[in-house]
Amino acid sequence: MTLEDILKKTVGLPLDFTDRKEVLYSCPCSRERIIRAIVALGEKEIKDIIEKGEEIEIQCEFCKNLFIFSLEELRSILENMR
Ligand SMILES: [Zn+2]
Repeated sequence: MTLEDILKKTVGLPLDFTDRKEVLYSCPCSRERIIRAIVALGEKEIKDIIEKGEEIEIQCEFCKNLFIFSLEELRSILENMR
């Protein structure tokens, strides 16, 4: 599974929708929500990402909002998990 697949599973957002009415609602995604999804990946997974030494970009497929997390932010997320 790719990181994206894992996030799709954990973010819990309606990543696919066919009902036109859905667009009337504002997307429930937020940075906090994405952080919770990252936390849900677990400490080891986050460490692996940090070890790769690249910031990560996570796009909400619902509203196309792009969330970018720097290594520093990932480290602080990891710190807050302890
Ligand atoms: Zn969104």
